Amino acid sequence: MNVLVINCGSSSLKYQLINMQNEEVLGKGLVERIGIEGSKLTHEAAGKKIVIEDPMKDHKDALKHVLSALVDKDHGAVADMSEISAVGHRVVHGGEKFASSVLITPEVMDAIKDCSDLAPLHNPANIMGIDACKEILPNVPHVAVFDTAFHQTMPKSSYLYGLPYELYEKHGIRKYGFHGTSHKYVSDRAASILGKDIKDLKIITCHLGNGASITAVEYGKSVDTSMGLTPLEGSIMGTRCGDIDPAIVKFIMDKENLNAAQVDSLLNKQSGILGMSCISSDFRDVENAANEGNELAQVALEAFAKRVKKYIGSYMAEMGGVDAVVFTAGLGENSISMREDICEGLEGLGIVIDKEKNNVRGKETVVSTDDSKVKIIVIPTNEELVIARDTAALAK
Ligand code: ADP
Repeated sequence: MNVLVINCGSSSLKYQLINMQNEEVLGKGLVERIGIEGSKLTHEAAGKKIVIEDPMKDHKDALKHVLSALVDKDHGAVADMSEISAVGHRVVHGGEKFASSVLITPEVMDAIKDCSDLAPLHNPANIMGIDACKEILPNVPHVAVFDTAFHQTMPKSSYLYGLPYELYEKHGIRKYGFHGTSHKYVSDRAASILGKDIKDLKIITCHLGNGASITAVEYGKSVDTSMGLTPLEGSIMGTRCGDIDPAIVKFIMDKENLNAAQVDSLLNKQSGILGMSCISSDFRDVENAANEGNELAQVALEAFAKRVKKYIGSYMAEMGGVDAVVFTAGLGENSISMREDICEGLEGLGIVIDKEKNNVRGKETVVSTDDSKVKIIVIPTNEELVIARDTAALAK
């Protein structure tokens, strides 16, 4: 059984075709600039990497290019479309309606549309992707896998804000959390690596990429997470501010003469590491600048590390201890210095990083010292595989 995994953004489409017998990736790629000038498909399969530049006016158009690349005689992954047995779609926001993945029916589509208010940038793009895919592949099961689902186990005391309860009842204002497939995957992997049952473990998973979130996984369930109603809360991120005093919103509006949408954009797109360092949202650029002595870059990275450290400490307090801390995603998997900075000073809490073992990028490795009470583990995430596994299970 081969599962096609689709992850649609407003102008992009990422895909992987996975053989579920051996979980091998048969083909993968990315379409960029859908609906804008310069549409481009980068496709990898059969040991080849090709780039196709061709106008793609919408997601359906993009998907047609993807499918024809996947069945191409020269650089394809399968002989024909009949070898695609099911499609798994990443959907960002499932609200409170979805605590697990589901087969997509007309009712499910309506429910996903109902969640669009909560994720106006993401869900409409996911819906476009599903619609396009169902049109082109009408005879295979389609499954929705939600970023929020893993966090639906949070207790009310974690997900309610200190706001009038009525706002939760009327508008669903609460913490939802994101990156759920990643937190689930790496916490499961951590249990396997430690050779223990996840039901016996308290794990803190740090997904540190352009977007960043930290989750307390107690006995296999998410009990708290740093992102909130939207992905803006929590850690400082590439371009998002993370936790701030909510009074700052009105203050900026008054002082800078901005409207609500403009402040929202400032907090989501011009803040975080980019805003603080005045250099870039890419941690590599900021790390380089910091190494050359740039003070704002140094402070931005210190603030980032301190924020993650504070979340680790608070989740240890919340769970009454921790057995493993996991680092994943672009920065978590690759930045040796950031992992070191985050763990520095946590020795008294039983978290001791081994600088030699930590000299690793993008590879599953325990990087704590042998006598560290808490294991520190680097685990490359694999959200596509979680989507494919859920899809295969539901399609059967
Ligand atoms: P997303 O999926 O949220 O876009 P990723 O998980 O791909 O993000 O992470 C991207 C980020 O990871 C980049 O902004 C980059 O700063 C960081 N990153 C990737 N490789 C390295 C590296 N070798 N050193 C430091 N940071 C890195």
